[in-house]
Amino acid sequence: MKSGLKNNKLEVFIVQKRISKMSGIYLHIPFCKQACSYCDFHFSTLLKKKEEFINAITKELILRKREINEQVETIYFGGGTPSLLTNEEIKHLISTVYSNYSVITNPEITLEANPDDLTKEKIVTLAKTKINRLSIGIQSFFNEDLQFMKRAHNAAEAIKTITIAVGIFDNITIDLIYGTPTLSNKNWKKNIEIALDLGINHISSYALTVESKTLLEQQINSNKIKPLNEKKAAEQFYILKEILEKNKFIHYEISNFAKEGYFSKHNTSYWLGKKYLGFGPSAHSFTGKQRSWNVANNAKYIKILTTNKLPSQTENLSQNNLFNETIMIGLRTIWGVSLSKIESNFGKNRLDFLLKKAQKHIDNKTLKISTNKLVATKKGKFLIDGITSDLFKVDEVKL
Ligand code: SF4
Repeated sequence: MKSGLKNNKLEVFIVQKRISKMSGIYLHIPFCKQACSYCDFHFSTLLKKKEEFINAITKELILRKREINEQVETIYFGGGTPSLLTNEEIKHLISTVYSNYSVITNPEITLEANPDDLTKEKIVTLAKTKINRLSIGIQSFFNEDLQFMKRAHNAAEAIKTITIAVGIFDNITIDLIYGTPTLSNKNWKKNIEIALDLGINHISSYALTVESKTLLEQQINSNKIKPLNEKKAAEQFYILKEILEKNKFIHYEISNFAKEGYFSKHNTSYWLGKKYLGFGPSAHSFTGKQRSWNVANNAKYIKILTTNKLPSQTENLSQNNLFNETIMIGLRTIWGVSLSKIESNFGKNRLDFLLKKAQKHIDNKTLKISTNKLVATKKGKFLIDGITSDLFKVDEVKL
């Protein structure tokens, strides 16, 4: 049996080798049955435009087929709620990708799904498509949390769905949310233990945050509920980390934990700065030097594509943008920020700037340098957003 450290290194090496030429395709499915109170993603609860949307995204896939030369290694159905698609619609979109892009032999194909859509029959039929990874939006196994968040499913459905799904799909991830006012530390531990008992090998877990224009924000502003307790969220983050690491999960990105062999290939490609194309309203794309994003409005998205035009805007990324992004993403992962890459991609002045700015965080033991990489320590992980924005302030020095 290899030690945990050796396993980590092995997995890092395999991931880096594997993705050296990869591209990912993201398909945004902009429909949900109901609005969760905290969510600021782009979606509509009006499903009547679903058919027109399928035609529009099909056209977008065809119109953009020459944007990447690399082979596609991952396809990701995100949203919104992709499990609202019928199996025929899913198969049609996958076959459109295959007909217009070069796809490797065994791509990772993920579908985000909500428990209330995943009947046994649906899971069995999904397994007959090319989908080979399910990302199930559980969030909690307790009804009081699910009701607080206005989720469409209940705790019994969450457990039933996973019990069926693990017997059919090997590669399953679930989402769990902590920091919810209704969630005690005791129930948070239970949530994690239930996931482990059900045989889950990958968990994405996020602190509840107050996004603008959400019901949660309104509830707090009108004093219907108290502001969120950051101290409790930090405690729950460390509870999660401790329990999962004891159970051989690798904390490979700030919000992602997986057993060896179960890292998300699609998301890892984002975090290692690889190219990806996003399709559907609000989807973003990154081609190494440019970022583009589609209009976040279903009706406009559909209308523009009927004229054979692309519903997107593009920005050329400056060296500062790319530098900041490299720091922001790198510090969120176990791969950290490679100092030699910073020097080769951005020059010695930016490397010196980074090291100078990082020193106070190294002194505070929130960052450390290990094998020529700048990485977040355990203490720094929960504070990473503040630390990275401090490292961004590059305008005050002449570069
Ligand atoms: S199901 Fe997902 S995308 Fe839809 S409202 Fe809830 S959190 Fe947002």
